[in-house]
Amino acid sequence: MKLFNTLTRKKEEFVPITPGEIKMYVCGPTVYNLIHIGNARPMIVFDTFRRYMEFCGYKVNYVSNFTDVDDKIIKAAIAEGVESSVISERYIAECKKDMEALNVLPATTHPKATEEIPGMLDMIRTLIDKGHAYAAKDGTVYFRVRSFQDYGKLSHKNLDDLEAGHRDIKVTGDGKEDEFDFVLWKPKKEGEPFWESPWCEGRPGWHIECSVMSKKYLGEEIDIHAGGEDLIFPHHENEIAQSEAANGKPFARYWLHNGFLNIENKKMSKSLGNFFTVRDISEKYDLQVLRFFMLSAHYRSPLNFSADLMEAAKSGFDRIRTSVANLTYLSQKNSEKSLTDEEKAQIEKTEGYVRKFCDAMDDDLNTADAVSAIFELVKFANTTADENSSCAYGKALKEKIVSLCDTLGLITDQEEELLDADIEALIEERQAARKTKDFARADEIRNELLNKGIILEDTREGVKWKRA
Ligand code: AMP
Ligand code: ZN
Repeated sequence: MKLFNTLTRKKEEFVPITPGEIKMYVCGPTVYNLIHIGNARPMIVFDTFRRYMEFCGYKVNYVSNFTDVDDKIIKAAIAEGVESSVISERYIAECKKDMEALNVLPATTHPKATEEIPGMLDMIRTLIDKGHAYAAKDGTVYFRVRSFQDYGKLSHKNLDDLEAGHRDIKVTGDGKEDEFDFVLWKPKKEGEPFWESPWCEGRPGWHIECSVMSKKYLGEEIDIHAGGEDLIFPHHENEIAQSEAANGKPFARYWLHNGFLNIENKKMSKSLGNFFTVRDISEKYDLQVLRFFMLSAHYRSPLNFSADLMEAAKSGFDRIRTSVANLTYLSQKNSEKSLTDEEKAQIEKTEGYVRKFCDAMDDDLNTADAVSAIFELVKFANTTADENSSCAYGKALKEKIVSLCDTLGLITDQEEELLDADIEALIEERQAARKTKDFARADEIRNELLNKGIILEDTREGVKWKRA
């Protein structure tokens, strides 16, 4: 597989550190609000990368953090008169709901910055000991940028061209040695969450969080580090400086960055009134359509969002779902059971579309071309399967389409999705079976639901259920 590496600005063959395994870190959201559709882009594209690599047989250790200590969270907490953790916990829970609706798999680990402070103190101490960081009089600790020779290698900037990072908070009484130096630890302000440290009561800078969480959950050297392109500088550049200066090893081998999502060709912003949360979109569309829309473009290209483009995505995605529904019907209703010789030959032809799909994905995750391969397969299915086909033919074609769509995280087989009403009906049937002491049937229903991710709980007030 080839991946475009921001570090080298080239498409390179992907070679993992450990054969068959991938260690990857994706910068997650700052949780002070519901996630917006721009935040959903890295979640969807890197989840798709993970799913595809798993489909190819890799074991993927996928770590994605929640930044749960930040100025914006503190501001929201002050506005509501609650603790910061009330805000961050609320929006972590909401973010997880959106991720589930977008069919983004939970990460192997979702660390939270506030639970990793000891690791941050350790790394800052190491950086000071090695001469890469220093504490100013007011207790602020800065990274000494000029002490790290490779600074600028990711963003391809040299220090003379650079302006100081925009995310760090300017601390009054600045004790910086150099304008490029960035904050590792900063003193608390009244009413802010803080932790004890050798330098002052305070909190970590944003960049150190990711260096530390990546090291703890994946090790000092990782395969892939990813996020939106706005993170290249200063966030990822600073992560490289911290991690490589502290660990004395290269940090991540491949740096992947998604392009930005714009609205009607304009930057999304609250002040322009063109700001959409994932929740807003879910009121009008099945979120699978949003996922399909995002994957219809290459992840590095800018992506324009508009009502018309969403409608086009909806009708394209419906075309796939309709074909899958028709094939389901054929595979259940047609009388001829087994494949004819002619059908066997047709099935072999579909391998060509699967190859096309994989070739596209292997070319720097070209999901746009992979989706085209699925459309070609759908067209082939629509023109070769009809009421005279065997059940097996309908079933085989359906499985091919569904499996490629599953690899992109797109749910196309709606038969598999249990609706609340279906669940309630099965629970009622199980209760009836138990009343007549048909425990075998009752257990069968419990297992059938469990296989579809529905967990039953027998309580005094009756049976309760939840989705796993
Ligand atoms: P933040 O919460 O701002 O740190 O963003 C979380 C992730 O969403 C980062 O990887 C950002 O690069 C990404 N992101 C934010 N806005 C957009 C956008 N409009 N388009 C694509 N990615 C975005
Ligand atoms: Zn990060």
